[in-house]
Amino acid sequence: MAAEVAAGAGHDVVVFDQHRSPARKFVLAGRGGLNLTHSEPIDVFLDRYGPERPHLESAIRAFSPDDLRAWCAGLGHETFVGTSGRVFPNEFRAVPLLRSWLRRLEGLAVRFEPQHRWIGWGDDEALQFATPSQPVSVRVDRTILALGGPSWPRVGGDGSWRTLLTDRGVRVEAFQPANCGVDVEWSGVMSDRFSGVPIKNAAVIVEDQEVRGDPVVTRAGLEGGPIYAQSRRIREALTKGSVSVQIDLMPDLDIRALTARLTDRRRSGDTATKWLRRAGIPAVGASLMREATANQLPKDPFELAQLAKAVPITVTSMSAIDRAISSAGGVAWTEIGPGFELESLPGVHVVGEMLDWEAPTGGYLLQACFSTAHAVGRAAVASELSRTGD
Ligand SMILES: Cc1cc2nc3c(=O)[nH]c(=O)nc-3n(C[C@H](O)[C@H](O)[C@H](O)COP(=O)(O)OP(=O)(O)OC[C@H]3O[C@@H](n4cnc5c(N)ncnc54)[C@H](O)[C@@H]3O)c2cc1C
Repeated sequence: MAAEVAAGAGHDVVVFDQHRSPARKFVLAGRGGLNLTHSEPIDVFLDRYGPERPHLESAIRAFSPDDLRAWCAGLGHETFVGTSGRVFPNEFRAVPLLRSWLRRLEGLAVRFEPQHRWIGWGDDEALQFATPSQPVSVRVDRTILALGGPSWPRVGGDGSWRTLLTDRGVRVEAFQPANCGVDVEWSGVMSDRFSGVPIKNAAVIVEDQEVRGDPVVTRAGLEGGPIYAQSRRIREALTKGSVSVQIDLMPDLDIRALTARLTDRRRSGDTATKWLRRAGIPAVGASLMREATANQLPKDPFELAQLAKAVPITVTSMSAIDRAISSAGGVAWTEIGPGFELESLPGVHVVGEMLDWEAPTGGYLLQACFSTAHAVGRAAVASELSRTGD
């Protein structure tokens, strides 16, 4: 996006990427539906960035969710608003949009240099790249770093740029997994029988905050939308030790209604699992309840309802960062000046997930990447104008 803005203003732009093809994480993001942004009112939208909102607000207002949708339409790809307010391109996936975008960039004479891994600066301050053949050194007027965070390194970056910047005195906060699963020490039964099974229409409760959705059991723990949405809260609580997360298996029934239902649907000779199933709690839910009670399920309907409304699960750690949707941490805001330029390295800008912010899924991640890149493109053009006096 920064390349498009700068090239659109007549500058020579070269994009170097370590992979064979550009935007591979963008393509991966589109695999299950490219959620570009969200349609909610801008003030609600901005609140999704939590404490980092002030750092991102002016960039997002200047290149807003509406601007992003108009930009897509300008590339020939209309967008639609899904039931949850999330915005997707009509084709749903990333590849058609990316193709059109690359064609536009080609028309603007943006050059791509694949398989160029940036490894730092040379003595003469030229950018240094490792390539499959020989090392390459390039002198530039302005550098825009868009190297991403360390999640999914197979398609994106591995965050090794961190030491290249810290060696130059730039403060970079440690990376942490965001929008990711959590680890739970399941019994063999749970991981063997229920790995991959969603717990439908549940609520995940952490520190009295409830998020509804379908958490999914994995071999190592839990993942899925409501777990991702709670991942910041869980991660921060984990710094004080293991965390007890509660799962409400019946969030639409209060405890009295569930007790009445359990009482009503009990049949003599039923196993506990069958009894729970009659009351609408599926086998995966019953198994979670067994895990939480060392297989000693209460026989009293009220006690059983209490358990089903708040099944305690001990989370021991976050899943590995390389499987997270995004990362927290990155270049500290104290290092960033106007136009997302590094205070200590004039002429070097930083965009996207390299910066120290995080947000839930819902289109907030890509929107902030697009908006910061658009802001940097504009700032780079303005700085070059004042430098050259054109
Ligand atoms: C499975 C998955 C699904 C997602 N779905 C969505 C979604 O639907 N909506 C949403 O908003 N967000 C989604 N995201 C998050 C979104 O993809 C990222 O937030 C976004 O891609 C970050 O953009 P970026 O430009 O900062 O970094 P990246 O997209 O990671 O791009 C960084 C680029 O820098 C290159 N690079 C890194 N280091 C070097 C180096 N040293 N030298 C040369 N090149 C280097 C990498 O090869 C890469 O091409 C998803 C992420 C994942 C993993």
